[in-house]
Amino acid sequence: MKNERMKTLMINERILFNTMPVPVKQAALNLPTIALVGRVNVGKSTLFNRLIEENKAIVSDIPGTTRTSNEGDILWRGESIRIIDTGGLTFVEDVPFEQDIVTQTEKAFNAANLVILVTDARAGIQPQDRLLAKRLHQSRKPVLVVANKIDTTKLETSVSLDDWRALGFGDPFPISGASGRNLGDLLDRVWQELKTQKQHPKSKTEFDAEPMRVSIIGKPNVGKSSLFNKIIGEEKAIVSPIAHTTREPNDTLVIYEDQPIIFIDTAGIRRKAKVSGELETMGIGKSIETMRQSDIILLTIDGSESLSSQDMQLGGMIERHAKSVVILINKWDLADDNSDHKRHEVERMVYSYFPHLDFAPIIFVSGLTGYRTHQIFATLKHIWQARHLTIPDTALQHFLKIATYEHRPSRGKGTRHPELTAMRQIDTNPPVFELFVKYRTSIHSSYLHYLENKLREQFDFYGTPIILKLTKLKR
Ligand code: GDP
Ligand code: GDP
Repeated sequence: MKNERMKTLMINERILFNTMPVPVKQAALNLPTIALVGRVNVGKSTLFNRLIEENKAIVSDIPGTTRTSNEGDILWRGESIRIIDTGGLTFVEDVPFEQDIVTQTEKAFNAANLVILVTDARAGIQPQDRLLAKRLHQSRKPVLVVANKIDTTKLETSVSLDDWRALGFGDPFPISGASGRNLGDLLDRVWQELKTQKQHPKSKTEFDAEPMRVSIIGKPNVGKSSLFNKIIGEEKAIVSPIAHTTREPNDTLVIYEDQPIIFIDTAGIRRKAKVSGELETMGIGKSIETMRQSDIILLTIDGSESLSSQDMQLGGMIERHAKSVVILINKWDLADDNSDHKRHEVERMVYSYFPHLDFAPIIFVSGLTGYRTHQIFATLKHIWQARHLTIPDTALQHFLKIATYEHRPSRGKGTRHPELTAMRQIDTNPPVFELFVKYRTSIHSSYLHYLENKLREQFDFYGTPIILKLTKLKR
């Protein structure tokens, strides 16, 4: 009986885990937080963008475009305040994702020390505003109501104050998100309000370490969102609300052992929003873009299925971009054979499909049980170090001498025997080497592969592509 209950509980937890938005470990950094709440089209995204001075949210007239909670930081008086922009509430049944938006909004309520109820002064108070106000009263959060789209002083006087007062939050604060009118005063007011709650805005923390940019790529249903949830649920991972200049609306900043990691374009991963129509088309071009922006790619494959042409396409796309790669064989909990032998067999098979990714470490994981997901961060850190490894010229000279002694350079086009005279490293992240070839000789491409392998043997270029550039010496 007891076991039965345990089982049900586990199943429920699992379902919750897979469908709920990612929990943000806010307490870890404990920034005072404000949430923008309001029905659709009142100008929340515009205000949010203006406040964080970055273009994080998509501004659009299509109701429901801002589906995810956008988070950012406002730097006011040299201190940080976290801000969450919630999706619009419409209370209309046929608007898609309505339940999600409600959940998001409720999450924002819970995280917030202060809620800003945004209303549209031009449209006036609508029944939906009243409904929302009622809900806010129930939540017992401090609320500040703003009357938005008051672009001029003249408009200010045309507002019927009684309508706003009836919401039960006092007089509205007149602002214009579009023009920035009164926003400084609003922030002062917010600042004061947070202070009276003893939520001092925090000084901005800067990170010394350069953030690595990571993306999770894989065809649908391989378990990307499950894995992402597990990864950022790691004990040592702090999902940070601290704004970073290189952060985009759908990026997630995670600090792992003092190393900032930006997970790129996690929108679809964080919330499994099944987008349709126009937005979906926008998303496809984006995944290529996502990969381009990444230093390291977590290429996720469903281990319970055979490799498909879609996997191959993704792999091929990555191969062409000289990115670091970790291959995650997910759903390994379903494997009936977990022996070393079986793993090696799978590894060999995967490398045969992706011959140019033979430098990529393979980890067998489960996004469901969390099996070996703790290895992912450690692997990322190791690769990041490898990408920044710098080999001194003298060491490279020595390396070249030994390598060419052990295996003479093979001839490419031309009749003369090739000669490599020198080698130096000209870049990191990823590492790039320049090889100097003697006048009128050329080198066979297989020899470059030999040198690459030799470099890997000698130095720790774990999980990173190595780029070799040939420079022909003039006479
Ligand atoms: P959201 O749905 O609440 O996030 O609203 P948006 O920020 O997407 O804005 C909805 C519409 O209102 C857009 O057409 C904006 O250009 C417009 N808008 C937003 N803020 C202002 C403002 O301060 N003044 C005026 N006149 N229009 C605004
Ligand atoms: P995404 O589309 O790549 O983000 O995939 P999801 O994370 O939504 O997972 C797709 C389905 O696979 C869901 O039903 C998950 O519960 C399931 N799933 C994800 N990871 C694992 C895993 O490691 N093991 C098993 N057995 N199922 C998994």
